[in-house]
Amino acid sequence: MQTNGSNAQHTGRPDVIEDGLFINGEFVPSKSGKKFDIFNPATEKWSASVYEADVEDVDIAVQAAKDAFPAWSELNALQRGHYLERWAEALEKALPEISYLDAISMGKPAYPDQLAMMIPMIVRFFAAKALDITGESSLNTANFVNISLRQPYGVCGAITPWNAPCMFLAYKASAALITGNTVVLKSSEKAPLSSLVAARCAKEAGIPPGVLNILSGYGRPCGEAIARHMEIRKISFTGSTATGRAIQKASAESNLKSVSLELGGKSPLIVFDDADLSKAVPAAAMSILMNSGQVCNASSRVYVHTAVAEEFLESLKATMTLMGKSGDPLVQGTSRGPQADKLQFERVMSYLDLAKQSGVNVALGGGREGSEGYFIEPTILTNVPEDSRLTKEEIFGPVLVVNTFSDEEDVMKRANATEYGLYASVFTKDVSRALRFAKRLEAGSVAVNCTSPTMAFDMPFGGWKGSGEGREFSRYATDYWTELKSVYLAL
Ligand code: NAD
Repeated sequence: MQTNGSNAQHTGRPDVIEDGLFINGEFVPSKSGKKFDIFNPATEKWSASVYEADVEDVDIAVQAAKDAFPAWSELNALQRGHYLERWAEALEKALPEISYLDAISMGKPAYPDQLAMMIPMIVRFFAAKALDITGESSLNTANFVNISLRQPYGVCGAITPWNAPCMFLAYKASAALITGNTVVLKSSEKAPLSSLVAARCAKEAGIPPGVLNILSGYGRPCGEAIARHMEIRKISFTGSTATGRAIQKASAESNLKSVSLELGGKSPLIVFDDADLSKAVPAAAMSILMNSGQVCNASSRVYVHTAVAEEFLESLKATMTLMGKSGDPLVQGTSRGPQADKLQFERVMSYLDLAKQSGVNVALGGGREGSEGYFIEPTILTNVPEDSRLTKEEIFGPVLVVNTFSDEEDVMKRANATEYGLYASVFTKDVSRALRFAKRLEAGSVAVNCTSPTMAFDMPFGGWKGSGEGREFSRYATDYWTELKSVYLAL
């Protein structure tokens, strides 16, 4: 780990680190009494232990959510919005704690924590949607007035990942709650601590008991029990494609609950010979270094035109070295932390081993950084075969594959030759070409002359192909938390 010269420590450590399951408005131990440990990935030292939810705890939480549903769903939508407003206020005050706890669980820099800052904004965005949850009316059938209603599902499940724990919690829970559902949410076993602060904030906001239940636990048995639960009518998941498949299968084998999935990606970034490299280079570097590459829409495959490839690569190496400086996530100004845990570290290292074994050119980095903590060097791999696992699979680390192209049609095909379809970027000054690519790239979002802009909440976010289905944010997000019903009124 390199140091960034500052010693100012983040001051968000809470007086008490909550360890209970949040069920029916209270923090309670798990029925089994079992706990699991969280380790700080920057130091490899123990951070905290929390109660582990089992199948029985899921059943209890679902019952609480079921009991809370009638009153919650019958509230005036503006009243639900008011509860969310109060939740946003409490979350805003708790941001230092949230950032601190994420830093000591999964290594996200806490000072400043740009991802956490979005949490209250997301909750407020959905609070403001209260009056937009409406159906349609039609006079298109003779002698009828027909209307469609948007109604809540009832008890909904949510399963969140560890890379921005409370951000995922905020947008899943707020969209589900504003539409009148009640929720049982499981946080990731790698980073459950900040979600328990969000639970405490919900209590402070006066959200009625049982409306939002938050469980710490593993994918199995806890996540699987949610995915298979017969009383849960809808589930929203963010995480790996493999787990997304397991959740869809669990739904198919149980009650065919509605499933929304936000999964991984191997997003292409295409740099044409007319691109402004002073924009393309930092955007490419930032996209793969943010959160140490542990971002679902990271641009992890670059295709650069041969005419500018050398200049691009030299500049990229310098920029990634500068921007990729790592440090203690709790120290002010650290912009890059370690990988989230030992498992993620070993996973990324296994790809770096593969690169070395397969004779791929390592243009930058390629190994572990320091001897303590799960830090990995910013890495650039070049001339990587298109059929290599390095080009095909999501590495989820600061590892960028850079290949060259000279033909527009060829790069379009290579960009689309992936099981994923979450995000794509194109850098060019030619507007027609930018629009041709925006139209033909197989991805839920296409960025022109940028990579991942700050979340535009009014735009739908989600994947094509193996990157999932359903959309978070925008008006579609509230659509996907509601069932549609048609009502036919004979005149
Ligand atoms: P994961 O899919 O295993 O875990 C995500 C969540 O799913 C966690 O809460 C986990 O406990 C839960 N889960 C695991 N197995 C489950 C099951 N059978 N049923 C129900 N829930 C289950 O992801 P991970 O191991 O944390 O990370 C591995 C890979 O996932 C990453 O390398 C990356 O490719 C991808 N990922 C993507 C995102 C994203 O934002 N799209 C976020 C995190 C991870």
